[in-house]
Amino acid sequence: MAIVVAGAAGFLGFHLCERLLKQGEPVVGIDNFASGQRDLAAALGQYPGFHWIEADIAQPLRVEGGVSKVFDLACPASPVDFEPLSLEILQTCSQGVLNLLTLALEKRAVFVQTSTSECYGDPLVHPQREDYYGNVNPIGIRSPYDEGKRYAEALITAFHRRHGLAVRIARVFNTYGPGMRLDDGRVISNFVMQALAGEPLTLQGGGEQTRSFCYVDDTVEGLLRLSATDYTKPVNLGNPDEVTVRRVAEEILELTGSASPLKSVPGRADDPHVRCPDISLARRLLGWSPQVTRREGLERTIEYFRSRVNRERVRM
Ligand code: UDP
Repeated sequence: MAIVVAGAAGFLGFHLCERLLKQGEPVVGIDNFASGQRDLAAALGQYPGFHWIEADIAQPLRVEGGVSKVFDLACPASPVDFEPLSLEILQTCSQGVLNLLTLALEKRAVFVQTSTSECYGDPLVHPQREDYYGNVNPIGIRSPYDEGKRYAEALITAFHRRHGLAVRIARVFNTYGPGMRLDDGRVISNFVMQALAGEPLTLQGGGEQTRSFCYVDDTVEGLLRLSATDYTKPVNLGNPDEVTVRRVAEEILELTGSASPLKSVPGRADDPHVRCPDISLARRLLGWSPQVTRREGLERTIEYFRSRVNRERVRM
């Protein structure tokens, strides 16, 4: 029985596939490279248990043979993509998720959704627990992603109620680590790239807003544990170690040894002012909590970016 991973060439999808393949599981990876990376797909192709399908999940899907689980990690997730890929994101979160649900039903597989802390929008309750309904602008610049993911949760839950499909929903909070795109546009990749290039670190909107960053291996562990339960409602997966964006910039400067200055630039519309997961449910249900400190995680990420920048320089 294979495990299907949609979004296999994405940052999180790649890490999940690699972990499964190392455990000896056969994996069918799907990606259309909307935000996925060809070199990550090529790295997965080295494993004999990996089968590749280049496809858009919003188009009719066919997967041969038995399938035990369908993981949906297929959606551009960087805020810089929310406007240029607005309609593609909405299609992915609606028709794409419907196609994957239909596949899971046909194969009698467990369906696992990577939902998001963006379901909470710019939260008025802090930290965020799963029973908070959120504060989302339905027509704002972030809405294709936020509302898309909220719609997907509704669709998945309706599917579960109507057809009895086994579903799991992880609300993933800011994940980072090796394998992120150099031009991903999110805060950690931007700051690391800027620090390595000796350019100013762009603090958007003052830098006093907070995030809680989870190292990718911890997120993958949480997803796998969740997939093995029979809990069908949303579960937060994130690291509650909350920090301001300014502080992250200072940490990255220290760890890279860069002399780059900090530079204030305008903030993004509807940018959440705070974000921190309450992970009591994940602790109780999964016996899970993040193990990698931000310092360790940033060191590994900086190391990855450094070697990748050097490799690309050699190629040029
Ligand atoms: N941010 C920043 N400088 C950057 C990129 C992002 O100050 O170069 C801020 C952004 O405005 C937001 C936070 O960092 O407040 C996290 O942004 P990111 O794009 O990483 O993801 P988000 O949590 O908003 O989905």
